[in-house]
Amino acid sequence: MTRKSTGKRDRDYKAATRLANAGRDPFAHHGYVNPPVYHASTLLYPSAEDYIAHRGRYQYGRRGTPTSEALAAALAEIEGPQCEAVALLPSGLAAISAALLSVVRAGDHILVTDSAYGPTRKFCDTILPRYGVTTTYYDPTIGAGITWLMRSNTVAVFLESPGSLSFEIQDVPAIAAAAHARNAVALMDNTWATPIHFRALEKGVDLSIQSGTKYIGGHSDIMLGAVAARNSTWMRLKETVFEMGLCVGPDDMFLGLRGLRTMGVRLAQHYASGMKVARWLEARPEILRVLHPALESHPGHAIWKRDFTGACGLFSVVFKPAPVEAVNAFLNKLTLFGIGASWGGFESLAIPFDCTPMRSATRWAPGGPTVRFHIGLEDVSDLIADLEEGLAAFRAAAESDV
Ligand SMILES: *Cc1c(COP(=O)(O)O)cnc(C)c1O
Repeated sequence: MTRKSTGKRDRDYKAATRLANAGRDPFAHHGYVNPPVYHASTLLYPSAEDYIAHRGRYQYGRRGTPTSEALAAALAEIEGPQCEAVALLPSGLAAISAALLSVVRAGDHILVTDSAYGPTRKFCDTILPRYGVTTTYYDPTIGAGITWLMRSNTVAVFLESPGSLSFEIQDVPAIAAAAHARNAVALMDNTWATPIHFRALEKGVDLSIQSGTKYIGGHSDIMLGAVAARNSTWMRLKETVFEMGLCVGPDDMFLGLRGLRTMGVRLAQHYASGMKVARWLEARPEILRVLHPALESHPGHAIWKRDFTGACGLFSVVFKPAPVEAVNAFLNKLTLFGIGASWGGFESLAIPFDCTPMRSATRWAPGGPTVRFHIGLEDVSDLIADLEEGLAAFRAAAESDV
């Protein structure tokens, strides 16, 4: 974890330039382009006096190394000028729980979007109540109406836009402004858009969270989380992460830093291929609706267009009503789409899902079975051909059922 770099090359560059340069200081490392990977716990001091005075830039492996500083500084630069600093966490979920713990105390109340990532909800329902913190879930499309749910002890509003299964788009500026009007903090899970496509801090968010496991890593081989903080929320976040002893393994930080360099070009391809597949699916007779905010047909499209500069490769579809066997036949027929959780890697994925058990403020009634796709970096025509075979298997299974 480190404060933002204040060097002259910081602020005005475009995203692609920042991704290539952020957090690098070759001449601090003999000229090598990338910082070294420090595998470290103990740090030695030259004398007893130095040890007693904690003299020196680093104290202990858990408290930061040149590797963690490089990654945190890079992420802070990418978040933009509103970012005071970034905390690194061992997973996206750890980033969510640490960010929430940094803003609540016993007796507090928080508001969480009904579309939140399932484990976020589980944390709010199981861990927070033990410490006297209560949660109310709200309709993700509530907008400025969030004001009416605020209580005298409401200290935080948690957003996730779009929801990573159901894809509702939230009016982040309106919700953040309503939170601030009542002295509450706005936290957002920004994993889907990343700061490349949604400038969360600029839109009023105080703590912007990413699962680095997804597009930062980009290769389905690391676990990583990050929380970007404004000045007003940084000290509490830093204290929470430090005092809980949360830190990231050096190799995962190295892979996060490496992934970051290509994140822009990867995201552009995920976005473009995802749109092609989404539009193709939207025209298919087996599909009722495609839940992708960048499609004109999406109910949140206008807000998406106003606030986002792009999308990633993750979206869902609603099939026309069919038995579960037909959806399973579709998924089992696919050869280029793996069936598995998580996303953001180079490879395509497809999973069935049902939000019903994860809803309390809204009713999940999409009108048919639902499947989420992650569109990877494979050739999009191969992906579409694979989906076409899957849909044929879906039709065959659906017809044999009646
Ligand atoms: C995957 C995911 C997380 C959790 O990240 P991990 O790194 O897997 O802990 C949080 N939020 C969203 C939206 C996710 O998709």
